[in-house]
Amino acid sequence: MSRVIEKYLPGVHKAAGDTTPPDVEAILAAIDFSVWDALASQMKPDLEATAQEAVTTVFATLNLSTEGSDLFNLSDTQALEYAEMRSAELVGKKWVDGVLVDNPSAQWAITETTREDLREMIGQAFAEQWTPAQLARHIDESFTFSAGRAEMIAETETAFAQTAATVQTGKNLGATTKSLSMSNLHDIDDECDLAQAAGQIPIDDPFPGGALHVPLHPRCCCVEMVHVPKPTKEPDND
Ligand SMILES: [Zn+2]
Repeated sequence: MSRVIEKYLPGVHKAAGDTTPPDVEAILAAIDFSVWDALASQMKPDLEATAQEAVTTVFATLNLSTEGSDLFNLSDTQALEYAEMRSAELVGKKWVDGVLVDNPSAQWAITETTREDLREMIGQAFAEQWTPAQLARHIDESFTFSAGRAEMIAETETAFAQTAATVQTGKNLGATTKSLSMSNLHDIDDECDLAQAAGQIPIDDPFPGGALHVPLHPRCCCVEMVHVPKPTKEPDND
């Protein structure tokens, strides 16, 4: 990535004393993120497997048979749809007939956060009069382009896929509430404690802290549970 940006560095690095800020927007617009499209195809099967597994888990937890179940088939299809949608959204795209096209309304796109991080770094480079080499090193060493971030994204997306499929399956089965079961990996108090303390809340309400679904923060290992009402036995009429 730094090599790509280096091409545009003459616009960033100003002679000492020049106070005209660089046209950061133009620099960012010139960066081609299309190599990231491959990520969508790479993430898709993983997210599909995760989401499908979550559907199966809900059915298994409730001792419901999946064989010939319309609700299972519906939930399974929705899980696949989620995985397809999210794998593309992740890189600011959507799938149309098997092709990735720009999606201006993509949420939580990693391309967007990456742009934001670069905007900040380029701004700092200008303010502190870094050389192009300094900026390039800074970019290479940043968290934005680290293996740690890639791992965090994979963890977060896996958790989101799990939750999305669990909640949708729960809704298909009549659940109207959810709750948070806190991971025992939590050693400091945070929004997860508040969410667990809130008990069962309406399924479409945000948890205390504002997040709609688990993970409530990066590296959150808590579990979101849906509460499916026990089927009331139909009275025998004969
Ligand atoms: Zn948590």
